[in-house]
Amino acid sequence: MIFKLPGETLLRLCEIISEAQRAFTASPTVLRFENALLAEGVCTLTAIGTHLVANEKRGFSAIKELVEDLATVFDLYIQGIYPRPECLGDEVEGEKGLNAADATWLLIMLEAIGVQVDPSRLVEALVTHIGDRKLLTGTEFDILHYKHTLGKRRIQLNADRTFLEGPVTQKTFKDSIGNRYTVCSRGDLPYSLEISGPKYREPKPQEAVTCDLCGMLYVTNHPGDARRHKTTHDRVVRRLNPKPSARLQKRVVTGITGELVGPDAPLWMHGEVYERAAAFRREFGYDFIQWPGGSSTRAPSDWRGHLFAGPGGEIAGACAFMHTTSRKAEGEWSLQWIWIAPRFRRMGLLETRWADFQQRYGDFDLEKPLSEAMVNFLWKHGSEAQRASLPVF
Ligand SMILES: [Zn+2]
Repeated sequence: MIFKLPGETLLRLCEIISEAQRAFTASPTVLRFENALLAEGVCTLTAIGTHLVANEKRGFSAIKELVEDLATVFDLYIQGIYPRPECLGDEVEGEKGLNAADATWLLIMLEAIGVQVDPSRLVEALVTHIGDRKLLTGTEFDILHYKHTLGKRRIQLNADRTFLEGPVTQKTFKDSIGNRYTVCSRGDLPYSLEISGPKYREPKPQEAVTCDLCGMLYVTNHPGDARRHKTTHDRVVRRLNPKPSARLQKRVVTGITGELVGPDAPLWMHGEVYERAAAFRREFGYDFIQWPGGSSTRAPSDWRGHLFAGPGGEIAGACAFMHTTSRKAEGEWSLQWIWIAPRFRRMGLLETRWADFQQRYGDFDLEKPLSEAMVNFLWKHGSEAQRASLPVF
């Protein structure tokens, strides 16, 4: 994070952080400020200054005079804070101030740049106050992440104008809690201050890559993308290398009828057909997933799925039939797609089910186009009508 600030403010800040840190207390003044801020929901910049000097006395307590500049540098909304008038219409004098979340965020940022302040109690109270809300302001977002980001930030403060005279020098030092500072100066005047927290790590390079296996496009070294990729990747691996399924094994003890996924089949079977429909779409590059069910909804009654049990009781593949009146007024079934995991192909899984399909769905139609493997299969096992619809090579 890079911020620009007046050269004079940077100089005084450098004077503060160059001194050794002193003992730290949660004095009654500190607690009074915190309680008042939480009760009122707002505070004046003067009150923040007084709060800060309770623990930050370095540089002759200069921090008190830097509050407004720093609130501006960090782009906080400074607004008028007024005492409630005794009678409506009374004239009252206001002062510049911040709301509770912004004031707490300012303290978080000051702590991150090495100022002696402890915003943790305010953070705790405000996190409770935020509760389960689904929408947050930017400052509330950082308050929620306080423990997660503590000591991990790198902040650079640059003077808003560059000094042209004198030799350039660079000074680095560490404070007693492990913050590392780099001050760049020209002559005696600092123009840049960089603060890295004790737990700051250089971010690893990020690049967009496509996974060869699951096809997902994701950004490397990005925790959110890593999580999303893992979910998608694991799903694809489960389809390609399925483990024996106790649930499917139980259903097929009496034969392949147990593989049927109709309107009465349990939801998990509808979900497993959906997974294979997704694999089919991915492998052959279609736009839609041709299975109108899933693990939370059953497919409607004009659809039938079949899961194929592999030799070890794995879900080796699936297919789906749809009842349609598009070609014949009386309606007919049509095989929409069939997908078998590569390592279970050419093992006769379809062949052993073909007679059952013919009996169940009659002389069914097949949704085109067909893969070469399917065309070859139909030349051997298809009905006369099915073979008549095949392309001739
Ligand atoms: Zn992947």
